[in-house]
Amino acid sequence: MEDTIAAISTALGVGAISIIRVSGKDAIKIVNKIFKGKDLEKVPSHTIHYGHIINNEEIVDEVLISVMLSPKTFTTEDTVEINCHGGIATTNKVLELLLVNGCRLAEAGEFTKRAFLNGRIDLTQAEGVMNLIEAKTESSRALALNQVDGKVSKLVKDLRQEILEVLANIEVNIDYPEYEDIEVFTNEMLFPMLTKIKKAILKILNESENGKILQDGIKTCIIGKPNVGKSSLLNSLLNEEKAIVTDIEGTTRDIVEGKISLDGVTLNIIDTAGIRETNDVVESIGVEKSRKMMDEADLVLFVLNNNDEINSEEKKILDSLKNKTHIVIINKKDLESKINLNDLDGHDYIFISAFKNEGIDDLKDKIKELFNLEQILTNDMTYLTSARSISLLKQSLESLNDIESGLKQEYPIDILEIDLKNIWNKLGEIIGETYEEELIDQLFSQFCLGK
Ligand code: GDP
Repeated sequence: MEDTIAAISTALGVGAISIIRVSGKDAIKIVNKIFKGKDLEKVPSHTIHYGHIINNEEIVDEVLISVMLSPKTFTTEDTVEINCHGGIATTNKVLELLLVNGCRLAEAGEFTKRAFLNGRIDLTQAEGVMNLIEAKTESSRALALNQVDGKVSKLVKDLRQEILEVLANIEVNIDYPEYEDIEVFTNEMLFPMLTKIKKAILKILNESENGKILQDGIKTCIIGKPNVGKSSLLNSLLNEEKAIVTDIEGTTRDIVEGKISLDGVTLNIIDTAGIRETNDVVESIGVEKSRKMMDEADLVLFVLNNNDEINSEEKKILDSLKNKTHIVIINKKDLESKINLNDLDGHDYIFISAFKNEGIDDLKDKIKELFNLEQILTNDMTYLTSARSISLLKQSLESLNDIESGLKQEYPIDILEIDLKNIWNKLGEIIGETYEEELIDQLFSQFCLGK
């Protein structure tokens, strides 16, 4: 991290002001070379200065410059922020002058990476920074801020502390078995301690599901045979929320057809075009394809036609929905009912008319109820959200289960200690206490430039 880095931190485009950020040991010296105003090497830390950016004698722009000295900066390095006039030409010119005078163009996320490597923030906080930038709803913003504030890190650190205490107990016994005044640490004593840790991990994992919902939304698919009213349902759902209707490519390989917001939680509704396209037979539902979509969704809306009997394919789908969060929607309630409700035993169902826009609010309420949205939104929102952390936590849980079964089989305690250390390391990886270079590079490369 010898280099002094520079990047444009604001979005590129026409705007009133652009900010160019410079960080590193020569930050102030380099900016000083292209600045006409006060001598920046002599000003106190955390002060702002008016002046001009110059290219030799030519004035490039009128600017305000913030000077922040190490260590109380985002990266902990000397940092200068140049507030210049917005617009691509001016901003690029200032950046170019910085590069000519000794800065290197920062990589994506490099400022945050430096903040991490210099120990100012840990990895969950860094991920929080990224989430905060990307947050589009009030709930995902609040969630990300808790990450940045370190609330999530504390959760993991507390857990590690508990493991450390168990490890210390084991070590003492291994190192000084002959000391009479040391209580012999037995498997029986280890058991309740492990149970406590396991409970804590399970709690975090369960709550992470909530975090995922708040951050990514609820992946919802609408399935049903042709003509039952899937598109009409989608339209009714979207019509009321026109403002946020967007056709965007999902981050997954699915195409998200629409987004609606339920009290600040996003419902990402997935297209079922694939099923429609490949099945010419009007009565066919494409059971296999539906199944695949169902597997990937958090919520399945299975639409039936009130005016039709439930056919064998629909029965198959109903069967496979038993272990899936789902709502059976009986559409066309304005028409005569031919549905045998006995077929829907054990399923949550609701009558609607997509056509007449009836029952849509009930449907929304049902979804809120199913996902406990009201409760999630009033919780403290301290959840782990990244797939990386959740996977590490799951691995820790597996190791913990191994230890438990080892204890039951009366394995010697020092063998179990290895597993326990492994968990401690895994939890360390979550906050970045132990990390691999490659992983860190990959993680920060997902950031935007200038952050
Ligand atoms: P999809 O193939 O499942 O997407 O079905 P569509 O949404 O295209 O609807 C098929 C037909 O059913 C269209 O002619 C709709 O106008 C009609 N339809 C949809 N919802 C209702 C409803 O609630 N009542 C009635 N009577 N017709 C409906």
